[in-house]
Amino acid sequence: MTIEDVISAVDQQKIQFVRFLYCDNGGIIRGKSAYYPTLPARLASGIGLTVAMQAMNSLDQLQDVPEMGPVGEIRLVPDLQTFRVLPYAPATAAAFTTMVDLDGNPWPGCPRDFLNRMLRQAESRGLTIQASIENEFSLIDNEEKPWDNTLCFASLGMLTSQDFVADVAQALQSQGILLEQYYPELGAGQHEISVRHAPAMEAATQQLYIRETIRALAQKHGVRASFAPKPFLDQAGNGGHIHFSASDEFGQNLFYSDSDRYHLSSLGYQFMAGILHHLPALLGLTTPTANSYQRLTPNTWSSSYACWGPDNREAPLRVASPMRTHVSQSINVEFKPADLAANPYLALGGLIAAGLDGIDRQLDPGDPMLINPGQLTEAERLMKNIVRLPTSLDQALEALSKDSLLIDSLGPLLTESYLAVKRSEADFYRGKPEEEIAAYHRFRY
Ligand code: GLU
Ligand code: MG
Repeated sequence: MTIEDVISAVDQQKIQFVRFLYCDNGGIIRGKSAYYPTLPARLASGIGLTVAMQAMNSLDQLQDVPEMGPVGEIRLVPDLQTFRVLPYAPATAAAFTTMVDLDGNPWPGCPRDFLNRMLRQAESRGLTIQASIENEFSLIDNEEKPWDNTLCFASLGMLTSQDFVADVAQALQSQGILLEQYYPELGAGQHEISVRHAPAMEAATQQLYIRETIRALAQKHGVRASFAPKPFLDQAGNGGHIHFSASDEFGQNLFYSDSDRYHLSSLGYQFMAGILHHLPALLGLTTPTANSYQRLTPNTWSSSYACWGPDNREAPLRVASPMRTHVSQSINVEFKPADLAANPYLALGGLIAAGLDGIDRQLDPGDPMLINPGQLTEAERLMKNIVRLPTSLDQALEALSKDSLLIDSLGPLLTESYLAVKRSEADFYRGKPEEEIAAYHRFRY
């Protein structure tokens, strides 16, 4: 899409507002809307934003980051490929933006640019990273109770939610998002949709459009949608599992091998080993809220111990068994300790940085875990070198702050602002009653 294409779509469809959106360090989708007569100039040069916004946490508390004070401006420049007419908002379109400095150069505090940089590093090794982010979410009624009480995968749940889901399917299709599956999930009010994999940048942006779409359509149906990791303490949490693989320039899946028992190539094993190696630190990016650690508990299929396994739902890395008729195309790895309170650009960027490190250092992920790692004794886990994942945001941020690969990949400005924002959130929630923490997050994501 060119600027001219966007302008002609806006003219033809009588669009009034175009939302210039971004996802911030706190995982909040924010933005500003351009009114249509101003659009041509804005599409090229962007909308101004104070540098301070990347020091804003998810409670709208501004953190003290020296380069992100009251003085200084960046621009939100839309990625034209992400332009979408929004099927749920009258005369409104949107695009996701990259943060650039006043000369139009990528701003080092921009999460989207971080993913872009990691993707270029992957490309320099001949890899196109493919990803798909699963979407678990909870529908909640006006009394802040789960909207339905139907069972896992139950057809009754499909019946209860069918009008809502039909609207979601149509809205996603009109935005070019390829819905693959829908089903009622385990928790009361919990539902899930999955979409087709796409190059990682597209997969991240799609996830943000899915959040926007589901929240908007829930509102139209008189309910609220929550993507919070654990909106209700007594119900299943909402994961944002990330499936990933790598393809070459001809679209061949480089994670596939016909000689491995799980059909995973040595490149796939090394990528996985890199992620395992950086796992505690990575969680600072992929499960980045106090509420995230209310979800990450043993025996909830969200993963708690650092290991990998074929179709093992308690392992952070699950080698997903391929489709029998499409083995080489469908082999992929699922990363479970991720949720949808994360900024998907940061989560995917971190995952890729760690995976590439595994390839560069030819790391070995060790033996597969074939049982629930929680069933082993502490001594058995110790012998197999299987550690407990961080159990709090504090622990994950501490690990992140000490992981030189991830810190170097993020760069100084993004590291400093991200840690400042996330540490302030950890400070705010520390010591609060569990119920209160969940309630704070329920409608924030
Ligand atoms: N809801 C679980 C989680 O928090 C995942 C269940 C599943 O395997 O789909 O990750
Ligand atoms: Mg699920």
